[in-house]
Amino acid sequence: MGQHMLEDDLREWESPLYRETVSQFDRVADLMGLDANIAERLRVPQRAIVVTFPYRHDDYSEVESLFGYRVQHLLSMGPTKGGIRFAPDVNLGEVAALAMLMTWKCAIVGLPFGGAKGGVRVDPLTLTRAEKQRVTRRYTAEIINFIGPNKDIPAPDMGTDEQVMAWIMDTYSQQVGHTEPAVVTGKPPALGGSVARREATGRGMVSLLPAAARQAGLETDGITVVIQGFGNVGRYAALAAHQAGARVVAISDISGGVYNGKGIDVTEAMGWVDLHRSLEGYAGGDRVTNEEVLLLDTEVLMPSATGGVITERNAGEIRAKLIMEGANGPTTLAADRILNDRGVLLIPDILANAGGVTVSYFEWVQDLQNYFWSEAEIVGRLREIMSRAFDEVLSVAVSHKTDMRTAALIKGIRRVADAKLARGVFP
Ligand code: NAD
Repeated sequence: MGQHMLEDDLREWESPLYRETVSQFDRVADLMGLDANIAERLRVPQRAIVVTFPYRHDDYSEVESLFGYRVQHLLSMGPTKGGIRFAPDVNLGEVAALAMLMTWKCAIVGLPFGGAKGGVRVDPLTLTRAEKQRVTRRYTAEIINFIGPNKDIPAPDMGTDEQVMAWIMDTYSQQVGHTEPAVVTGKPPALGGSVARREATGRGMVSLLPAAARQAGLETDGITVVIQGFGNVGRYAALAAHQAGARVVAISDISGGVYNGKGIDVTEAMGWVDLHRSLEGYAGGDRVTNEEVLLLDTEVLMPSATGGVITERNAGEIRAKLIMEGANGPTTLAADRILNDRGVLLIPDILANAGGVTVSYFEWVQDLQNYFWSEAEIVGRLREIMSRAFDEVLSVAVSHKTDMRTAALIKGIRRVADAKLARGVFP
């Protein structure tokens, strides 16, 4: 913990994920002998906005109040960057923790951003398209002074997608009086979105599979993969893994999962979900629950749905030799220790899923320059950045004799600390 900060000072952000994220930071800050003044500054977000706002249901008679958040963890590296999630249980502490993780993630892959995150506490599955649009536009209007191409650039996260980004971009552009594509990333390509952004997180993660498998002592040809979550991250991870010659033996979403030892037909499953909104009723394998999916016999596990799914209760039973975190914060600290002791290689979220923010960065650069790159250029640069980050984190892990999560944090925190020390304190 920082030199002067009392535990009480953290009460605004109180949530299990924030507690975990800060104690992880404290541990690594201690380990690397981080300057105490810098450590104290980095434990808390620089700016946090909480808004409440009304939205009208389709039937016109009901107006509901919603909570919205936007947290900017670090303003020293450039504009801030991070997703917006629509979820029924999102809260300030969770968003603050995710904003901090975004800071490290951007620093690990070397992007000129600090971390941010946003959210609206609403269940997106209960909203009609018109309701979702009203929620998005009003939330954007409430935080409009805090976002912008040089301030803070949102992106999709759980429960939000290209369409939501298009509505944010349109609302912002209406307010400032000109079209401003660079205010969000993950937009449809017709509005200045980047090709290959949609697939970037899953594809980026799978681009690390050969190197990670080698590190875990696994053969890559025909390697078995289980993926929890079949949304933006999970489905494109499944597709990329399949295309790379892996055997995707199970997938799941909120409705449960399917297991097929011969390999899931990923394209068919994607078609099913596009038509029916979930995997429910999909007959491409045996039904399994989301708890079971994590414990299946597989070489690689990619938790790519939501946070806190691998805990001390199930970590001892996980059979995978390699875990790649597509989701943010899927593994608790206690589970991390158990997996480490058992010799399971874990590629942490801040490295494994950094492909999304990397291609978001490409999108922002393209929008600012009004010059668009080809898919081959984007995929090539994504692979190069991911693979360089992996090698650098691995070399920190080797030199510090530590695990990949600690090594990734050391690398990210060191870059941020160097920048902050060089800038000094104002005034
Ligand atoms: P999404 O909304 O597109 O998909 C989420 C998927 O997880 C869906 O298939 C949903 O049914 C499933 N799911 C939700 N809750 C579940 C539960 N309790 N158990 C099992 N499955 C559940 O979201 P996404 O964009 O794919 O994000 C997934 C995770 O990846 C989140 O943690 C997000 O923060 C992280 N992430 C996303 C990106 C990105 O570019 N979209 C980038 C980095 C990290």
